[in-house]
Amino acid sequence: MTDSKKATAATVTPLRKAVPCPQCERPSQRGTYPFCSKRCADLDLGEWLSGGYTISGSGDEQSSDGE
Ligand SMILES: [Zn+2]
Repeated sequence: MTDSKKATAATVTPLRKAVPCPQCERPSQRGTYPFCSKRCADLDLGEWLSGGYTISGSGDEQSSDGE
């Protein structure tokens, strides 16, 4: 088993390194990685869904020039 309980300096590395929350840039929590809270995770998911499924029908499609 990997039981590494070495006191390495002052850096206690959890399972994952805390990263800035994509929503509010607070340190992420393990349970809601990579977000700081479930709220931010939900927010991000909402944005992703609304943004990802936006099929832009407007706008000019690349008009095939040449032929
Ligand atoms: Zn957050």
